[in-house]
Amino acid sequence: MTNNTFSTKTISLNQYGIKDAKVHYQLSSDQLHEETINKKQGIETSLGAITVNTGEFTGRSPKDRFIVKDSITEDKVWWGDINIPFEPAAFDALYDKVVDYLSEKEIYVRDAYACADKNYKLNIRVINEYPWSNMFAYNMFLRPTEAELDGFEEEWLVVNAPGFMANPEVDGTRQHNFAILNFEKKIALIGGTGYTGEIKKGIFSALNFVLPVFKNTLPMHCSANVGKDGDTAIFFGLSGTGKTTLSADPERKLIGDDEHGWTNENTVFNFEGGCYAKVIDLSEDKEPEIYHAIKKGAILENVVLDENKNVDFADTSITQNTRVSYPIYHIDNIQVPSIGKNPKNIFFLTADAFGVLPPISKLTPGQAAYHFISGYTAKVAGTEAGITEPVPSFSACFGAPFMPLHPTKYAEMLSNKMQEADVNVWLINTGWTGGPYGTGSRMKLKYTRAMITAALEGKLNDVDFHTHPIFGLAMPKACPNVPTEVLNPIDTWENAANYNAKAAELSNSFKKNFAQFSAYANEEIMNGGPIN
Ligand code: ATP
Ligand code: MN
Repeated sequence: MTNNTFSTKTISLNQYGIKDAKVHYQLSSDQLHEETINKKQGIETSLGAITVNTGEFTGRSPKDRFIVKDSITEDKVWWGDINIPFEPAAFDALYDKVVDYLSEKEIYVRDAYACADKNYKLNIRVINEYPWSNMFAYNMFLRPTEAELDGFEEEWLVVNAPGFMANPEVDGTRQHNFAILNFEKKIALIGGTGYTGEIKKGIFSALNFVLPVFKNTLPMHCSANVGKDGDTAIFFGLSGTGKTTLSADPERKLIGDDEHGWTNENTVFNFEGGCYAKVIDLSEDKEPEIYHAIKKGAILENVVLDENKNVDFADTSITQNTRVSYPIYHIDNIQVPSIGKNPKNIFFLTADAFGVLPPISKLTPGQAAYHFISGYTAKVAGTEAGITEPVPSFSACFGAPFMPLHPTKYAEMLSNKMQEADVNVWLINTGWTGGPYGTGSRMKLKYTRAMITAALEGKLNDVDFHTHPIFGLAMPKACPNVPTEVLNPIDTWENAANYNAKAAELSNSFKKNFAQFSAYANEEIMNGGPIN
């Protein structure tokens, strides 16, 4: 891995319709850091990392994510509110406007790739209006060697123009911002938003179509790490449930924090070369790995500084979704390359804001399929525009916004793989305990970590379990380094009747949501749902 490849090569963007641009090709991380400061688009913090403000958008905007309906996608994509169709002609017209907008500007170009397993390598060229967005792409994607850069040919193109505003009436968008995937042309076109997460999730969504359809590989919205004995663990979960936090474990090598593929060759590989961590309330004490990754080369987003350029991680005045991106080698203990063997343990992370689900439970294969298809969490404020209070949320495969195919397609692949690999599957509630949001409190990170460690070390193999009366989940009666009274949620509530009422409410939400999938589910999966 080269950390600071840069090139003296000059390239022209005429082939893309970007005319007379001043092209900065493949700048080093240090150069982009300086450019960002010189252009007054960022500030160097006391930690050495720069911080930028992403502008109007401080989270993704799922309602403005479109897929061009073309010969490749038409029959395969699960069209609807998540995968919103876009007309090919409208795409072409909007693309022309965007490249026209980028013409004659200073432009930052980055050649990179996705997928750490060379059999799946996807070359990407990223064209950015701003230096820090280009640095984000440098942090998040994988870095070609000098030799690989010679004769580099991109398969996918990302065109990222945060300053370009669409006109919904003529351009076919919902509002001025958009993220559009075009599978025929292999272009991700992003405009009107500076939120960098759109860049990485654009390529993720492309891979979530390409890998299962053409490469027989299961793409997963999960983090992954590997223990001393080479045992891989993966952690599925929606935004804010703990994928990045819990995969950064000093005792285990990090494979990746967000996007992975599970191949038919019994391997799990990272799509990315960097991490993108939430930094709300980050402390050196509780999350040292992530805290120490914030140094020169990293990019903080939307944090607030004091007069000495110290970051106030508790300040959410810009957004709750404050972030940092950094190349994966900013974490001490990493797996190189980012590939592991078949997982031995799979964790489904949920941040249940109702305080109902047990902090750890062991799932049967039917329950695993049911909970994977359900993809329950309570959306905590932040990553998405418009969400400021927790809301119950079901997002199939723990990542529906990024999954172009019908959820059952991914669920089937996962079920088959889980069976073949003979994995343990655990449901972890990193959310509330002792009552719902407002009354109870978030489960202590150190307890969640202890539960995961116990599961990974086989320390829950021989303990007794009892069955949750409503969800049918197997809850361990004891767990090393965790107070017994937090293991069964009803014991943490002041009033058991209130707990039962809330649990019944949540059970109903599960059933209601699952109705749309019951036609696809067999008896085993249906039995994996709430039992009352
Ligand atoms: P995204 O998909 O948006 O990247 P993520 O799943 O990676 O989300 P994290 O970045 O790990 O989520 O966010 C989890 C947040 O919750 C962190 O800010 C972490 O400090 C906080 N947190 C509090 N308690 C816990 C807990 N018990 N387990 C995990 N995370 C916790
Ligand atoms: Mn994450």
